[in-house]
Amino acid sequence: MADRVKGRVGGIDWFRMAAAVLVIANHTSPLASFSGTADFILTRILARVAVPFFLMASGYFLLPRVRAEETGVLGRFLKRTGGLYGISVLLYLPVRVYQGYFSEPELATRLWKDLLFNGAFYHLWYLPAAMLGMGIAALLLKRLSWKGALAAGGGLYLLGMLGDSWYGLTVQIPALKGLYDGLFACFDYTRNGFFLAPVFLILGGMLAEAPVEGRLPGWRLWAAGGVALGLLLAEGLLLRAAGWPRHDSMYLTLPLLMALLFSLLLRARGQGGKELRTASMVLYLVHPLCIILIRGAAKVTGTEALFIQNSMGHFLAVTALSAGCAAGVVWLSRLPAVKRLLSRRKKPVAEPGRAWIEVDLSAVRENVAVLQGLLPVQCRLMAVVKADAYGHGAGPVCRALERAGVQAFAVATAAEGAALRKQGVRGTILVLGWTSPAEAAEASRKELTLTVADSAHANALDGVGVPLRVHLALDTGMHRLGIPWDDDAAIRAVYRCRNLRVEGTFSHLGVCDSLEETDADFTREQIRRFFSAASRMERMGCPPGKLHLQSSYGVLNDRGLPCDYARVGIALYGALGGGETAEQPERLRPVLALRARVALVREIAAGEAAGYGRAFQAERPTRLAVITIGYADGIPRTLRGGRVLIGGEAAPIVGRVCMDQLLADVTGLSRAEPGMTATLIGRDGEAEISASELALAAGTIPNELLSRLGPRLGRKTSGG
Ligand SMILES: *Cc1c(COP(=O)(O)O)cnc(C)c1O
Repeated sequence: MADRVKGRVGGIDWFRMAAAVLVIANHTSPLASFSGTADFILTRILARVAVPFFLMASGYFLLPRVRAEETGVLGRFLKRTGGLYGISVLLYLPVRVYQGYFSEPELATRLWKDLLFNGAFYHLWYLPAAMLGMGIAALLLKRLSWKGALAAGGGLYLLGMLGDSWYGLTVQIPALKGLYDGLFACFDYTRNGFFLAPVFLILGGMLAEAPVEGRLPGWRLWAAGGVALGLLLAEGLLLRAAGWPRHDSMYLTLPLLMALLFSLLLRARGQGGKELRTASMVLYLVHPLCIILIRGAAKVTGTEALFIQNSMGHFLAVTALSAGCAAGVVWLSRLPAVKRLLSRRKKPVAEPGRAWIEVDLSAVRENVAVLQGLLPVQCRLMAVVKADAYGHGAGPVCRALERAGVQAFAVATAAEGAALRKQGVRGTILVLGWTSPAEAAEASRKELTLTVADSAHANALDGVGVPLRVHLALDTGMHRLGIPWDDDAAIRAVYRCRNLRVEGTFSHLGVCDSLEETDADFTREQIRRFFSAASRMERMGCPPGKLHLQSSYGVLNDRGLPCDYARVGIALYGALGGGETAEQPERLRPVLALRARVALVREIAAGEAAGYGRAFQAERPTRLAVITIGYADGIPRTLRGGRVLIGGEAAPIVGRVCMDQLLADVTGLSRAEPGMTATLIGRDGEAEISASELALAAGTIPNELLSRLGPRLGRKTSGG
């Protein structure tokens, strides 16, 4: 199942290669020697999917994060693309000099037109277009909904189209023609960042937020794609016959085809990868240079007939040479020295100073896929994100969950639910705890679903006088919240409350994390009571709505229960370990790492003591590292034993945990120096410490440890 998440991107990464080859075809016209029409169809119609595809891929990965106001995303994209553009401009500078570009008239005007819109070399217009388009899309999404932004981007596209393949229509309307004549004084074509890019970027972002998968069965998607392709071909050929195109990048039916094509690619299985992305980028960037080289080489060797005049030979030679360059760059990027160089440049900005949490959202998405795979098909995950998503940061975690297809969330308090709505979380948000009637009106406005804790609570909520969606909690033996499972009168009374709409019924298992026989019996009895109550409710005209019973261990120890939701918390974060499971679950990846710094390293003599209460006594000459994290950051003072990782090696934690620091015995480590990173939870080289290991050493469970990580910690979230 984890493959499914990666597979979604695999199709996109592979198509990057195809799209790059289409761009080469566009610039080499492989079929020109054989048939003008065939060449037109290939290079002026079909190859026109390439640039929109690249734009959609950028929108898919970036715009949801831009819209969620994740800091630095837009800036990093502009910086990276700008850097690439800068390098490309330098790469093609000698060619421009050779062509005499700098001695032509009106250099200044041409220079800024070319740099901003036309591209510093004929294929390079894409890079400034992607930057300008991304800026426009980000602005639109700041003000408008996805649909609104799409409409605005679509409007720009239509305007561009009237200066492109539909130009023949424009010239028939004098006022319009005047307008476009003015536009063409600023740029040579309308297929640029202003008119062409925004709509495809936004379309890509929308598909990331709401994948078509699931809404449209596979065969229909294929059929619709086929129809759209037919329409595009017809449009292109008709416009050509009418002699309308001024240029041929923008067709009316192209956005439709692109939405369907991209959705099909999202369904494709298979591994993508950074190397495919690098290779396709190199293909695109260097192929015009390869065209020049192939032409030169053919002239020198007298093979013009094969490599220049024969259009297919020309295309194949250019593609092969470009592919060789791409393979060379990928090979270079694998060299350890190059890797080190690249990672060294990134490191210093990445790590916060003293003590921090690292959250890897790609692990959240993989865990969703693994867990959803354990559940019966009709049962969906209700992601439990109370206590700031168990200390992981509820906002970014929920966005990752939504991208993985989760549509139901559970929190502990109405305030937590309201905060999620403010962050843009849609779907069901169930408040699991007791909600004060004083908070009910606000909960209703925020469309939160409340838990009815017992009949008195139901009456109090009803008395507020605002319509409320609720789930009914049943007490099946844990004796925490809930109406007793067999109290029919109390259940009926809830259904008589005029302002309460019961949309679900749930209970909570008290010992599902234990496999001991008496505990397992008790869990079975709770399950029996729950489903017996649900069918009784059905019979007495009190429809129970959505049923849910299991939390993480409940799911792992009882796979097939006929529920609508499973309320999964700790397993989503890959931090099991507080209880027992019958089978080892497929590996769930830990989402969080907790790290601090070595402040200093000092030697103490045998017989000396260290820390509060002189709790650590050195039995031999000992090197102690002072680590910059303590109980105010969430490391329990009850910790006895435990380890930290420094330079990939484990050192025992010694003495008593202080409020802001703790001590580790680094005598046995090959290297421990001030400034090095100390890992309390997470991986360092080959070594790893799980949240459950640290929790166990402190006499608690990962749930408590994680949810109490302190606000003083820095945060680094990646993989969104
Ligand atoms: C916290 C909570 C959960 C989630 O439990 P995990 O063991 O973290 O999966 C589920 N249901 C209720 C009622 C909870 O309070």
